[in-house]
Amino acid sequence: MSADEETERSRRQHDVVAGYRIFASYGWGDDGSGHISARDPEHSESFWLLRNRVAFRDATVADLVLVGPDGSVSGHDEVAINPAAFCIHAPIHRARPDVVSIAHTHTGYGTPFAAWCRPLRATSQEACAFHDDQAVFDGEELDVVDLMVGARLAASLGPRRLLVMANHGLLTVGATVGQAVGFFVLAERAAEVEIKAGAGARVVSDDAAASVRQSVGQASSGDDSFTWLCRTRL
Ligand SMILES: [Zn+2]
Repeated sequence: MSADEETERSRRQHDVVAGYRIFASYGWGDDGSGHISARDPEHSESFWLLRNRVAFRDATVADLVLVGPDGSVSGHDEVAINPAAFCIHAPIHRARPDVVSIAHTHTGYGTPFAAWCRPLRATSQEACAFHDDQAVFDGEELDVVDLMVGARLAASLGPRRLLVMANHGLLTVGATVGQAVGFFVLAERAAEVEIKAGAGARVVSDDAAASVRQSVGQASSGDDSFTWLCRTRL
């Protein structure tokens, strides 16, 4: 392994830990649901996850385990991961070599929004970050414990940034951990606007949404959001 890979691995691990702690700061995942992964820079078919039974707020780099493409786990003496974490993350990492990180959990607005089984509408600046860059998985497998379901999630996501998992919750991906986590928080806020504003909310035009996406939808916006979240939530 090169020094650059070692540095990048450490950076991704620290960002994943920060991501879990940011989720915890909102109370997300306090029942153990949800996961954030980071692809390993050396073993690119493997990814880092928080081991099972560690509270998100207590996450440390020492609690991360490396999950292989076959589900094998290394990096800790008493290892176990949430089966759903493997079945969701592994097929998406396989299908999307451009993706370094995937973030998913069940949230106060994202999950009820997902029960509508439709994409976010352009009702807020945050929603425009996903203009033309989101998909819906309408399968009824609400507990993903089968790799075949994970493969269908990956197929639904396609090349996009956000997946609305119907009756389940939101899932975001990014070329960095910061993008996956930053855009997850933006998607949750967009879902909050949809829920709170209700059916009477104005939806801006496709042209307006596309224009807003030029700024808030830049990949670097996800990293910027993550930097702010680290600054303000940790
Ligand atoms: Zn879930």
